[in-house]
Amino acid sequence: MCKNMPPLELAIQFHGHICPGLLMGVRAAEFAQKYLDVSPDQDEELLAVVETNSCGVDAIQSILGCTFGKGNLIFRDYGKSVYTIASRDKDRAVRIAQKYQAQPHPDNVRYRELSRQGTLTEEEAAEKENLLASIFERIMTTPFEELFNWQEADFAIPEKAQIYPTVQCSICGEGVMEPRAIMNGQLYVCPTCT
Ligand SMILES: [Zn+2]
Ligand SMILES: [Zn+2]
Repeated sequence: MCKNMPPLELAIQFHGHICPGLLMGVRAAEFAQKYLDVSPDQDEELLAVVETNSCGVDAIQSILGCTFGKGNLIFRDYGKSVYTIASRDKDRAVRIAQKYQAQPHPDNVRYRELSRQGTLTEEEAAEKENLLASIFERIMTTPFEELFNWQEADFAIPEKAQIYPTVQCSICGEGVMEPRAIMNGQLYVCPTCT
Protein backbone atom coordinates (compact mmCIF):
# COMPACT_ATOMS: atom_id res chain seq x y z
CA MET A 1 0.00 0.00 0.00
CA CYS A 2 1.19 3.46 -0.85
CA LYS A 3 2.30 5.40 2.20
CA ASN A 4 1.44 8.78 0.76
CA MET A 5 -2.13 7.85 0.07
CA PRO A 6 -4.68 9.96 1.99
CA PRO A 7 -6.16 8.07 4.96
CA LEU A 8 -9.61 7.82 3.40
CA GLU A 9 -8.21 6.27 0.21
CA LEU A 10 -6.10 3.84 2.23
CA ALA A 11 -9.17 2.70 4.11
CA ILE A 12 -11.31 2.27 1.00
CA GLN A 13 -8.61 0.33 -0.80
CA PHE A 14 -8.03 -1.94 2.17
CA HIS A 15 -11.72 -2.52 2.89
CA GLY A 16 -12.69 -3.06 -0.76
CA HIS A 17 -15.77 -0.87 -0.68
CA ILE A 18 -16.96 2.38 0.78
CA CYS A 19 -19.73 2.19 3.37
CA PRO A 20 -21.04 4.19 6.35
CA GLY A 21 -19.34 1.92 8.90
CA LEU A 22 -15.95 2.35 7.26
CA LEU A 23 -16.38 6.13 7.20
CA MET A 24 -17.14 6.17 10.93
CA GLY A 25 -13.96 4.17 11.43
CA VAL A 26 -12.03 6.69 9.33
CA ARG A 27 -13.25 9.50 11.59
CA ALA A 28 -12.24 7.54 14.72
CA ALA A 29 -8.81 6.61 13.34
CA GLU A 30 -8.03 10.16 12.24
CA PHE A 31 -9.15 11.51 15.58
CA ALA A 32 -6.99 9.03 17.51
CA GLN A 33 -3.96 9.92 15.43
CA LYS A 34 -4.41 13.63 16.07
CA TYR A 35 -5.39 13.25 19.71
CA LEU A 36 -2.37 11.11 20.57
CA ASP A 37 -0.17 13.03 18.14
CA VAL A 38 1.26 9.87 16.59
CA SER A 39 2.22 8.58 13.14
CA PRO A 40 0.77 5.40 11.66
CA ASP A 41 2.29 2.33 13.24
CA GLN A 42 5.41 0.73 11.81
CA ASP A 43 6.46 -1.73 14.45
CA GLU A 44 3.92 -1.90 17.25
CA GLU A 45 4.40 1.60 18.63
CA LEU A 46 0.60 1.69 18.62
CA LEU A 47 -1.92 -0.80 19.87
CA ALA A 48 -5.65 -0.93 19.17
CA VAL A 49 -8.25 -2.75 21.19
CA VAL A 50 -11.44 -3.01 19.13
CA GLU A 51 -14.78 -4.13 20.51
CA THR A 52 -16.37 -4.99 17.17
CA ASN A 53 -15.38 -6.86 14.04
CA SER A 54 -17.36 -4.75 11.60
CA CYS A 55 -16.37 -2.37 8.78
CA GLY A 56 -14.92 0.43 10.95
CA VAL A 57 -12.09 -1.79 12.19
CA ASP A 58 -10.61 -1.86 8.70
CA ALA A 59 -10.09 1.90 8.94
CA ILE A 60 -8.21 1.36 12.20
CA GLN A 61 -6.03 -1.27 10.53
CA SER A 62 -5.29 0.63 7.33
CA ILE A 63 -4.94 4.17 8.72
CA LEU A 64 -3.29 3.51 12.07
CA GLY A 65 -1.39 0.39 11.02
CA CYS A 66 -2.70 -1.62 13.95
CA THR A 67 -3.25 -4.91 12.19
CA PHE A 68 -4.28 -8.44 12.92
CA GLY A 69 -1.04 -9.79 11.45
CA LYS A 70 1.24 -7.58 13.53
CA GLY A 71 -0.58 -8.56 16.68
CA ASN A 72 -1.26 -4.97 17.68
CA LEU A 73 -4.97 -5.26 16.95
CA ILE A 74 -6.77 -6.90 19.82
CA PHE A 75 -10.35 -7.98 19.23
CA ARG A 76 -12.82 -8.13 22.09
CA ASP A 77 -16.08 -9.53 20.82
CA TYR A 78 -18.46 -7.13 22.57
CA GLY A 79 -20.40 -5.95 19.53
CA LYS A 80 -19.66 -2.28 20.32
CA SER A 81 -18.20 0.37 18.04
CA VAL A 82 -15.53 1.22 20.59
CA TYR A 83 -11.85 1.61 19.80
CA THR A 84 -9.11 2.09 22.37
CA ILE A 85 -5.89 3.29 20.79
CA ALA A 86 -2.70 3.28 22.84
CA SER A 87 0.70 4.76 22.12
CA ARG A 88 3.72 3.01 23.58
CA ASP A 89 5.96 6.06 23.12
CA LYS A 90 3.52 8.53 24.64
CA ASP A 91 2.43 6.04 27.28
CA ARG A 92 -1.19 7.01 26.96
CA ALA A 93 -4.38 5.78 25.39
CA VAL A 94 -7.69 7.13 24.23
CA ARG A 95 -10.99 5.27 24.26
CA ILE A 96 -13.32 6.33 21.46
CA ALA A 97 -16.95 5.20 21.57
CA GLN A 98 -19.51 5.76 18.86
CA LYS A 99 -22.57 7.55 20.26
CA TYR A 100 -25.81 5.65 20.38
CA GLN A 101 -28.40 7.03 18.04
CA ALA A 102 -31.90 6.20 19.18
CA GLN A 103 -33.18 7.32 15.82
CA PRO A 104 -30.77 6.62 12.99
CA HIS A 105 -30.85 9.07 10.10
CA PRO A 106 -33.48 8.00 7.50
CA ASP A 107 -30.76 7.93 4.82
CA ASN A 108 -28.90 5.28 6.80
CA VAL A 109 -32.04 3.25 7.38
CA ARG A 110 -32.87 3.23 3.68
CA TYR A 111 -29.25 2.54 2.74
CA ARG A 112 -29.14 -0.51 5.00
CA GLU A 113 -32.43 -1.71 3.54
CA LEU A 114 -31.06 -1.51 0.00
CA SER A 115 -27.77 -3.13 1.06
CA ARG A 116 -29.60 -6.10 2.51
CA GLN A 117 -31.81 -6.47 -0.54
CA GLY A 118 -29.12 -7.89 -2.81
CA THR A 119 -30.36 -7.46 -6.38
CA LEU A 120 -31.37 -3.90 -7.13
CA THR A 121 -33.23 -2.33 -10.02
CA GLU A 122 -31.44 0.39 -11.91
CA GLU A 123 -33.39 3.06 -10.01
CA GLU A 124 -32.62 1.44 -6.67
CA ALA A 125 -28.94 1.22 -7.51
CA ALA A 126 -28.93 4.92 -8.36
CA GLU A 127 -30.84 5.70 -5.18
CA LYS A 128 -28.29 3.73 -3.15
CA GLU A 129 -25.43 5.63 -4.76
CA ASN A 130 -27.07 8.97 -3.99
CA LEU A 131 -27.74 7.93 -0.42
CA LEU A 132 -24.11 6.93 0.04
CA ALA A 133 -23.01 10.32 -1.32
CA SER A 134 -25.13 12.20 1.21
CA ILE A 135 -24.15 9.85 4.06
CA PHE A 136 -20.51 10.39 3.09
CA GLU A 137 -20.95 14.15 3.18
CA ARG A 138 -22.68 14.03 6.54
CA ILE A 139 -20.27 11.65 8.29
CA MET A 140 -17.17 13.44 7.06
CA THR A 141 -18.43 16.94 7.99
CA THR A 142 -20.29 16.36 11.26
CA PRO A 143 -18.33 17.66 14.27
CA PHE A 144 -16.54 14.72 15.91
CA GLU A 145 -18.20 15.26 19.28
CA GLU A 146 -21.61 14.65 17.73
CA LEU A 147 -20.52 11.23 16.50
CA PHE A 148 -18.27 9.93 19.27
CA ASN A 149 -17.48 10.20 22.95
CA TRP A 150 -13.88 9.88 23.98
CA GLN A 151 -11.77 9.88 27.09
CA GLU A 152 -8.20 9.33 28.11
CA ALA A 153 -7.96 5.66 29.04
CA ASP A 154 -6.05 4.10 31.86
CA PHE A 155 -4.44 1.28 29.99
CA ALA A 156 -1.45 -0.92 30.65
CA ILE A 157 0.08 -1.59 27.26
CA PRO A 158 1.07 -5.24 26.95
CA GLU A 159 4.49 -6.32 25.73
CA LYS A 160 5.04 -6.45 21.98
CA ALA A 161 3.74 -9.59 20.33
CA GLN A 162 6.06 -12.53 20.88
CA ILE A 163 7.44 -14.81 18.24
CA TYR A 164 7.23 -18.47 19.25
CA PRO A 165 9.09 -21.47 17.88
CA THR A 166 7.26 -23.79 15.51
CA VAL A 167 7.08 -27.48 16.34
CA GLN A 168 5.84 -30.36 14.22
CA CYS A 169 2.47 -32.01 14.86
CA SER A 170 2.96 -35.75 15.27
CA ILE A 171 -0.32 -36.51 13.49
CA CYS A 172 -0.62 -34.23 10.42
CA GLY A 173 3.06 -33.32 10.16
CA GLU A 174 2.28 -29.62 9.84
CA GLY A 175 4.08 -26.97 11.83
CA VAL A 176 2.32 -25.36 14.79
CA MET A 177 3.24 -22.50 17.13
CA GLU A 178 4.57 -24.19 20.26
CA PRO A 179 2.19 -22.66 22.84
CA ARG A 180 -0.78 -23.84 20.73
CA ALA A 181 0.42 -27.44 20.57
CA ILE A 182 -0.78 -30.02 23.06
CA MET A 183 1.58 -32.62 24.45
CA ASN A 184 0.60 -36.23 24.00
CA GLY A 185 3.28 -37.97 26.00
CA GLN A 186 6.48 -36.76 24.33
CA LEU A 187 4.71 -35.81 21.09
CA TYR A 188 3.21 -32.55 19.94
CA VAL A 189 -0.36 -32.48 18.59
CA CYS A 190 -1.80 -29.40 16.84
CA PRO A 191 -5.26 -28.02 17.72
CA THR A 192 -6.86 -29.31 14.50
CA CYS A 193 -5.69 -32.86 15.22
CA THR A 194 -6.88 -33.03 18.82
ZN1 LIG B 1 -18.11 -2.02 4.76
ZN1 LIG C 1 -2.07 -31.69 13.20
